Amino acid sequence: MSKATRTPEGAFPGIRHDHGDCVAEALSAAEALCAQRGVRLTELRRRVFELVWSSHAPVGAYDLLSRLAREREGAAPPTVYRALDFLKEHGLIHRIESLNAFVGCRTPGQAHAGQFLICSECGMAAEIDDSRVNAAIDRRAKEIGFAVHSKTIEVEGLCPPCRDRAGEDGHGIG
Ligand SMILES: [Zn+2]
Ligand SMILES: [Zn+2]
Ligand SMILES: [Zn+2]
Repeated sequence: MSKATRTPEGAFPGIRHDHGDCVAEALSAAEALCAQRGVRLTELRRRVFELVWSSHAPVGAYDLLSRLAREREGAAPPTVYRALDFLKEHGLIHRIESLNAFVGCRTPGQAHAGQFLICSECGMAAEIDDSRVNAAIDRRAKEIGFAVHSKTIEVEGLCPPCRDRAGEDGHGIG
């Protein structure tokens, strides 16, 4: 028997962690990946990427658009969407359908369909990429004769810090 699935260490980083480190790490991974693939991380793509990485909570598409519109002229929605498409295509960010939002990927460069644990209280999202989940979907889909195009799974709930807070006041959430 394999051990129960658990969230990888640091998937929900502490509130006081140094997020600058996360951003720096993500940027250097993105730069390396683009160099390796011979594609350009243009200034706009880079800025969009930074904004998506501004926290561990997915950033809404409209929020991104308005922030960029304030920052720079010429950041028209189609331009921003093209930048988002580029980042998504190269696995640098993921789209969270249920929130119409984007979140940075911690393991870009490896083909994967993420499974996301999304906290409904603070909005943080943790990506877990469990090969057993992927394999189970593939197996069942094959049995049914279903052709899978996308396997992103979005799970809603409470992250560890929010669970702690909910426990502390004794009233739960709501
Ligand atoms: Zn961080
Ligand atoms: Zn990912
Ligand atoms: Zn939370």
